[in-house]
Amino acid sequence: MNANDQILRVEGLTKVFGAGRTQVRAVDGVDLCACAGEIVLVMGPSGSGKTTLLTMIGGLLRPTSGRVFIDGVEITALPQGELPRVRRHHVGFIFQTFNLLESLTALENVEVALNVAGVGGREARDRARALLVEAGLEGRLDFNARDLSGGEKQRVSIARALANRPRLLLADEPTANLDSRHGHEVMRLLHDLSKKEGRTVIVVSHDQRLRDIADTTMWLEDGRLREVAEGEADPYLADARSAGVRGAS
Ligand code: ADP
Ligand code: MG
Repeated sequence: MNANDQILRVEGLTKVFGAGRTQVRAVDGVDLCACAGEIVLVMGPSGSGKTTLLTMIGGLLRPTSGRVFIDGVEITALPQGELPRVRRHHVGFIFQTFNLLESLTALENVEVALNVAGVGGREARDRARALLVEAGLEGRLDFNARDLSGGEKQRVSIARALANRPRLLLADEPTANLDSRHGHEVMRLLHDLSKKEGRTVIVVSHDQRLRDIADTTMWLEDGRLREVAEGEADPYLADARSAGVRGAS
């Protein structure tokens, strides 16, 4: 793997919220890198800092300290005013709650993302359609978002995340609101995007199933990150088992 394949590099990333007795080190000195076509899964219990980490990587939240490089550009050194442009062109976001515009159609939801980035008219419409077809939604183009199932909504949101051809996709608990079948469809789509198109995917989640598509699995606890060896049990489950939590085995 040569250095040019490195799409994301994170160095010593730290976020401290609050001050004094209520101070929280939500993310504490995280180092991470990911190459083209790689899927990195960051697992961790609720409150471990997953969302904070992901939003800093995507330039939505300023770190207290540390650096983030996307495609070789240090986004943590950019002025605030330049971040929206970086987010639009270099990063695609996928959220647990989909964040679609419910009264717009599937097609319009993807088109809006293109319009915001300066692509309009026929070009935007054709590209939005192609992305939705690729996501298996050919029969749902003109449905209002509110009439789609959870799995379909998440596939629309993946199509939207891809609208501006970002090399980096950031997904926050993308399968958490989905049943088993829809969760698998979303996983397969993320996997295919990464492997066929060489996109880098960072997924944060506590969904064990995502380990099946991850190249690298990391464990986040109290804001600190470490790699989980292949075949190693989810540390969260192992803890729960030793504490005698039912359903954890
Ligand atoms: P996760 O996504 O893993 O559930 P979060 O990144 O949302 O975890 O939160 C990590 C920690 O940081 C939690 O203790 C949370 O309460 C705290 N936190 C997150 N956002 C804020 C904020 N805006 N202000 C203060 N504390 C926050
Ligand atoms: Mg979260």
